[in-house]
Parts: sequence; C-alpha cells; structure tokens
Amino acid sequence: MPDRKYRFSWELIGDLALGRPNLGPSTRLEIYRLMQFTFRDVLEQHYGTEQTDQLFYQAGHLAGTEFYRQYLSEIKEFNAFIKSLQSSLKDMGMGILRVEKADVAQGSFILSVSEDLDCSGLPELHYEICTYDEGFIAGLLESFTGHQFKVKEIDCWCTGDRTCRFSAELIP
Ligand SMILES: [Zn+2]
Repeated sequence: MPDRKYRFSWELIGDLALGRPNLGPSTRLEIYRLMQFTFRDVLEQHYGTEQTDQLFYQAGHLAGTEFYRQYLSEIKEFNAFIKSLQSSLKDMGMGILRVEKADVAQGSFILSVSEDLDCSGLPELHYEICTYDEGFIAGLLESFTGHQFKVKEIDCWCTGDRTCRFSAELIP
C-alpha cells in the first residue's frame, strides 16, 4: 500500500530562513485562529460536533507527540521536562504554562495555560474550546512517561476564567 499523502513530518514546516527572508517565522495570531476556526467549521459541517472535537484532540495529540520528539526528548527528569516545556511554549508564543498540582507517583496533574494561543481573548461561549490543547498535553505527557493520559480542560477563557486549566490523569 502506498504511503499516505499527508503524513506529518518536520520537513513540511520547511526552511523558514530560506522561504521567508523578509517576513520571518512569525505571523499574526488572527491568521492562525482564522485557519483553526474555519477548519473547525468545515469539519463540523461534514462530521458533526463530537467527531470534530475528536479530530482536534487527535491532531493536538500528534502535535504534542511530535513537539516532544523535536524539542524535549533528551530530558529524563520531570522538573527539568516541565521547565524546558515552559520556556519553549513561552518562547514560541504558545502560552504561559504553570503546574498547579503534580502528583508524579499517581500520574495526576493540574496544568494551566495563560494567554493561550487558541482561546485567550475569545468571547464567553459557555463551553471549553481548547480540545487541540487537551490532545497536545496528552501527547506530551504520554511521550514523556510512556503511559496513557486522559486530559480534560476544566476552565477556559471562554467559560469566564482568564486562564485555561487542564486536568491530566493517568489511565491505569
Ligand atoms: Zn481554553
């Protein structure tokens, strides 16, 4: 069977220095959100809300797994892993990560992300919207620990909190 057309690889990100000598590696957040929310709209029209959420979670999971592999895979100790993750997320303008609770032995965590790329500043929507982030965090934690996690956003900018807060629980 031939390989898939769109399998992710970091090569697809391209050589930004070569390709964008004047504009550089950054873009306006409106444009990132425009892409994300139009994707969501079209996916929902085709596949329904629940399936769309699952697809966003899975894409986020793949992103978290690849992000770990690309930037964090050398780190073996939990505090060093979190520290490095915090600075990468901040440097790349993705958000400000805080660990509010970490029970490493039980695999139980509460993480918050402020100024989140996906949702910070959105109108109040009465539902959490950061499904992609849930998957992203699950992908990171699973890559680091080798165990499966269930990640759920419990507070979001969109639900009136001014930060996104995620629970992450080890699946026994
Ligand atoms: Zn959120």
